[in-house]
Amino acid sequence: MGSFGEKTFRARISILGEFADRELEKEFAGQEMINSKKSVRSAALLLGVLYFALAAADFSRIGDKKVLSVFLLNRILFLAVSILFSFLLGNVKKPANYYLSITAYEITGAFFLVWTFFLNETPVFMLQYLNILILLLLVFIIPNRTVYTVTAALGISLCFHLFSSITGMAINDREFTASVVHNGMVIMLFSLYSLLINRYKRINYLDNKVLRRLSSRDALTGIYNRQRFEEELRRAIKHAQRYGTQLSLVLFDIDNFKAVNDGYGHLVGDKVLVEFVSIVATEIRETDFFARWGGEEFALILPGADKRDATLLANRLRDRICSTYINPVGQITCSFGIDSYRQGDDCETLFKRVDRLMYIAKQAGKDQVINGIS
Ligand code: GH3
Ligand code: MG
Ligand code: MG
Repeated sequence: MGSFGEKTFRARISILGEFADRELEKEFAGQEMINSKKSVRSAALLLGVLYFALAAADFSRIGDKKVLSVFLLNRILFLAVSILFSFLLGNVKKPANYYLSITAYEITGAFFLVWTFFLNETPVFMLQYLNILILLLLVFIIPNRTVYTVTAALGISLCFHLFSSITGMAINDREFTASVVHNGMVIMLFSLYSLLINRYKRINYLDNKVLRRLSSRDALTGIYNRQRFEEELRRAIKHAQRYGTQLSLVLFDIDNFKAVNDGYGHLVGDKVLVEFVSIVATEIRETDFFARWGGEEFALILPGADKRDATLLANRLRDRICSTYINPVGQITCSFGIDSYRQGDDCETLFKRVDRLMYIAKQAGKDQVINGIS
């Protein structure tokens, strides 16, 4: 429970614009993948179609039928690659594969573009360079790891300059030098841009994470708050309904807590609540959802647990709590109400039933566990 907050505040962003903490980076990358996947897939489709539409210009520009047909083949193939990429990306689940796929698509795009340079009878170097600039712009716009983006951009530029100098294209020396220098500057500036964007995205992610935590946790004890509890109960009930799984709810309230405040003051009362929470937290499983419903009343959502499991847990908790000495107030006790999800239950019906059972436990003399009769 505590590690979440610590990590958030310790997070360092490396010189490559990524979280130094690999787990946090993975978590971020997963979120980024979810956020960007749809638009990247649409962008690839749009790009494929646009590139294909340029065939209209080829018809008026290219006289040679053979050259024209290769141009058309080039455009059709890239359209097919774009459709395939867009389709396959939909099934990519791992963020690492997502970014590699995007990079592979960018490099494939470069391959198709460079291919056309060989098809022109009298290629004009500067015009081709402008095409490469557009491609680089796309590479830097598409969300990706800075390392991949910069590697792809450098690779594309290097290949372009290398190929254009060995294919016998009529290149003016001054133009070639100017293009190398210009290209170097473009890549440098865009790399900086990519680094900053990736940095800001991560800072933003952390801020959101802190906000999410603040809005879902109880400030005193750090466990989930009532609002988040209600959300979780709704979700758990839906899950139980859909998959026919077991689900139990436990509500418990510290007995005579007013006396603690009256006898020792509110600050000691607060300390008792914090200690109480840490005792309960050590007894429950990772999948159990522990929340402070309000004041000195708590809730446990137990997915997969039937009433018998839940009663066993509550009795264990009861034993643990009343056998622990909490300084300086001594032993405290709790009253528990328990019931399981029944067909047709919603949050309100289940909660009301359990709340009534807890009330019965109080009426029956407190420090006991009462479960519902099926
Ligand atoms: P019962 O056994 O019937 O539950 O009696 P009780 O005294 O525990 O219950 P009651 O509802 O009369 O009093 C609850 C007390 O819990 C009163 C309230 O001031 C105290 N309380 C609620 N939230 C906090 C808190 O955050 N810190 C402190 N110190 N006290 C709290
Ligand atoms: Mg109480
Ligand atoms: Mg109470």
